[in-house]
Amino acid sequence: MIELRGKAVADAHKAVLSERLAELQAKGIVLGLGILLVGDDKAAQMYACFMEKTAKSAGFGVEVAHLSADASQAEVLAVVKRWNEDDRIYGVLPLMPMPPQVDPDVIIESLDPGKDIDGLTARNIGLASSGKGGFWPCTPLACMAILEHYKIPLAGKHVVVVGRSQVVGKPVALLLLEQHATVTLCHSKTTNLEEHLKQADVVVAAVGRAHVITGDMLKPGATVIDVGINDLDGKTVGDVEYASAIEVAGAVTPVPGGVGSVTTTMLLENIYEAYHARNVNR
Ligand code: NAP
Repeated sequence: MIELRGKAVADAHKAVLSERLAELQAKGIVLGLGILLVGDDKAAQMYACFMEKTAKSAGFGVEVAHLSADASQAEVLAVVKRWNEDDRIYGVLPLMPMPPQVDPDVIIESLDPGKDIDGLTARNIGLASSGKGGFWPCTPLACMAILEHYKIPLAGKHVVVVGRSQVVGKPVALLLLEQHATVTLCHSKTTNLEEHLKQADVVVAAVGRAHVITGDMLKPGATVIDVGINDLDGKTVGDVEYASAIEVAGAVTPVPGGVGSVTTTMLLENIYEAYHARNVNR
């Protein structure tokens, strides 16, 4: 059984990215990231701190706007507008959740699609899913980067994706199709999940329920990409029960240390892509 550790994947991508950033820095160009945080959500605050630190240490310029929990929608929109118009900012990351008086969809759709580095806007969803460019969200990109790094074959293989969210399940299914996999997309109304899983050469689990998939549900030798991040008795675990999965599967991503370790790097890559799209591809 191979453990598909995310760090090796992230390190390989970071090495390429840091060369590209060094070339830009030699020309005096620093790519700016705007992180938008509204309110007191602890997980969002922790993620903002982590993202700020990671992006700065990779050589990006970072601006964090932390608005209070009673900020009006107009105040939040004003920050996005300022960043949309600021040429030094190449990526804007609005963190969720937003307080009830702020409609997250309005904030997302106000983003300049060229700076929407987590592929949240309808324009980027349309562009990416129709193969016309645009940004894919970072978590599906992380899943694909892991599969590519560990040379897991996809063409002609049967992949079962569990979960159909707009940020993970649906886009990863489309990315897998692009790689010529035969994709089955399962969700909470799927009646025969186990039957599908038993046929899967590759499983991508993006459910958000601890240990909903166990080793006995898997096909021997399958590759398992576990996107889930769940708390189970104070411990962070995936959607897949790791201990039983490793008895059956050929390769499994650990949680933590798998997909989550690659996601941030994909976000940073998308900032570079935003620079490239604005300055090189035009
Ligand atoms: P989400 O929006 O809640 O979507 C969950 C999906 O799972 C839905 O499509 C739902 O079906 C399906 N589902 C729920 N219960 C199911 C069941 N018993 N059997 C089959 N399908 C079931 O969640 P998400 O945002 O996609 O996130 C999924 C997980 O990934 C969470 O644990 C999240 O924390 C984690 N995550 C990790 C990263 C990372 O970087 N590693 C990034 C993002 C998210 P319906 O559509 O029918 O409701």
